[in-house]
Amino acid sequence: SFTALLASQDEAKNQTNSFVELTDADLMDGDITVAVEATTINYKDGLALTGKAPVIRRWPLIPGIDFAGTVISSENPDWKPGDKVILNGWGVGETHHGAYAKRARVKGEWLVPLPSSMSAIDAMIVGTAGYTAMLCVMALERHGITPDRGPVVVTGAAGGVGSVAISLLSKLGYEVIASTGRHSEHAYLKSLGATDVIERSELAGPARPLGKERWAGGVDTVGSNTLANVLSMTKYGGAVAACGLAGGMDLPSSVAPFILRGVSLLGIDSVMAPRELRIEAWQRIEKDLDREHLRAISTLMPFDALPNAAHDIVEGKVRGRLVIDMSA
Ligand code: NAP
Repeated sequence: SFTALLASQDEAKNQTNSFVELTDADLMDGDITVAVEATTINYKDGLALTGKAPVIRRWPLIPGIDFAGTVISSENPDWKPGDKVILNGWGVGETHHGAYAKRARVKGEWLVPLPSSMSAIDAMIVGTAGYTAMLCVMALERHGITPDRGPVVVTGAAGGVGSVAISLLSKLGYEVIASTGRHSEHAYLKSLGATDVIERSELAGPARPLGKERWAGGVDTVGSNTLANVLSMTKYGGAVAACGLAGGMDLPSSVAPFILRGVSLLGIDSVMAPRELRIEAWQRIEKDLDREHLRAISTLMPFDALPNAAHDIVEGKVRGRLVIDMSA
């Protein structure tokens, strides 16, 4: 048997999360069984564990959208026992038993190889948050937003996606403007390579159709008024990668940035992103992410710390990335 954190709902839809002992027979269908060595808490995992948003769509369920570990058994020709793998998304932790267990059974096509110079813990410091940050940077690059075009703004800067985005962009030579609501994190953001730090409140009010042109690109994790302001302050021909909703799901914007400045809004989804794009993103992470920063952005915790940490992340109290060492 192995330990799992199981989320259940009673008839009144009250959620409880409890550590239970399960066996392989309790796992769902899949052609690969993995020994989970590390996992993490993303914002979405916080929503799932606290029940603040309907992330879990099948009950009872083992939550957790990300894991890294070693293949124990495989009926898939692409993987063999001993292979080191990463899983991000694909509905794992939403409709399929997820990462918060010492074992997982999934489809082989969902897995990507763990880059050879990274440990399972390293991969989970990155996690969905960091892999999404990489997808945002790749989208900006595809759109031709090179460092010489001007600065890139990162919102929700001290969070997981934000921290990794700043580190990646600064290493790639971009000038980075970090937007945060936490004064205490200014030095942290500069240590990751932010050239400038601005107050979250500057971007929180209702957006004008067009504002002063301040940046060539953006990575937005906040949505709502923040994204609307980021768009209205994007330079002619610039682009903004939108991946998050930490401030709201709405977008009170106008078409002005698009039709008067040729600004592009690039949508980023990590959950159903095609496998080739994931493999490319993880290769880029291995190459372009500063390993010193990886340590600086992470807090390591044991499995039993998970339920409490879930509350911290939805309350916006977490800096960088929370990582669960399943062997601790
Ligand atoms: P996180 O670590 O909690 O970071 C979110 C950050 O947003 C917080 O640290 C905070 O940064 C800021 N923030 C929180 N509440 C806010 C509010 N009410 N108004 C303005 N700013 C607020 O979460 P994460 O794991 O990095 O994820 C960030 C967002 O991206 C989430 O919405 C998540 O669902 C989304 N996401 C989407 C995808 C995708 O596939 N599209 C993948 C991963 C994540 P400061 O304290 O620095 O201001």
